[in-house]
Amino acid sequence: MKIDVVTVFPEYLAPLDLSLIGRARDKGLLDLNVHDLRRWTHDVHHSVDGAPAGGGAGMVMKPQPWGECLDELVPGEERPRLLVTSPAGRPFTQAMAHELAAEPWLMFACGRYEGIDQRVVDYAADRMEVTEVSIGDYVLFGGEVAVLAIVEAVTRLVPGVLGNAASLDDESHNAGLLEAPAYTRPAEWRGHEVPPVLLSGDHGKVDRWRREQALLRTARARPDLLERLDPGSLDERDRLL
Ligand code: SAM
Repeated sequence: MKIDVVTVFPEYLAPLDLSLIGRARDKGLLDLNVHDLRRWTHDVHHSVDGAPAGGGAGMVMKPQPWGECLDELVPGEERPRLLVTSPAGRPFTQAMAHELAAEPWLMFACGRYEGIDQRVVDYAADRMEVTEVSIGDYVLFGGEVAVLAIVEAVTRLVPGVLGNAASLDDESHNAGLLEAPAYTRPAEWRGHEVPPVLLSGDHGKVDRWRREQALLRTARARPDLLERLDPGSLDERDRLL
């Protein structure tokens, strides 16, 4: 998978060199490049912002550097899916992470200040698929943290990136439920025990316990998820809980 990130703070994306993403890059599974938007400025101050049209507080990222950046990074017929980070965008979810993991090329635009001139989105949308994307109902200083979250959620779904792909099977948000709590050794720690069923060696019982815990945990923490669950995915024993 190819990933390009455009930002005025390339250093903010340094964690993309680390851990499993760094290893996936070393293995050639991810071709990830971070670009400094100021490369496409021409004034001595390398300015990327201007006063908002119509007045008001703050500054807006001007379209010219973004336009030149897109023209240079996307020169030919092959087009990326462009993700423009914005608190006014489509909410990012695990389902969207799966959708993006199937794309061969993702490009991320990190906004700053009051955001990017809307004409950049409109111009790009004539040339490629563009999605404005939000990581939650709150406002950050810039899109870099959003990109870190999205890239991490997406790339761990790319085959070969995660050491054990089975880890993806039962995890939270996979089938609309939260995952059951996890435990490891020792069996007793500071007066708290690992639930005995997990040490029973009975895989059927362990699976059932995990299923029940997932349902109960979801009901407690995220009843909204439970309401959206397909009733057909619940069996007799689930309904008795
Ligand atoms: N004036 C904008 C508004 O009210 O919608 C907020 C701009 S915000 C201060 C600056 C940049 O941070 C945005 O352009 C976007 O790139 C990024 N950003 C802030 N919150 C975000 C969120 N929840 N999800 C994704 N990106 C976000």
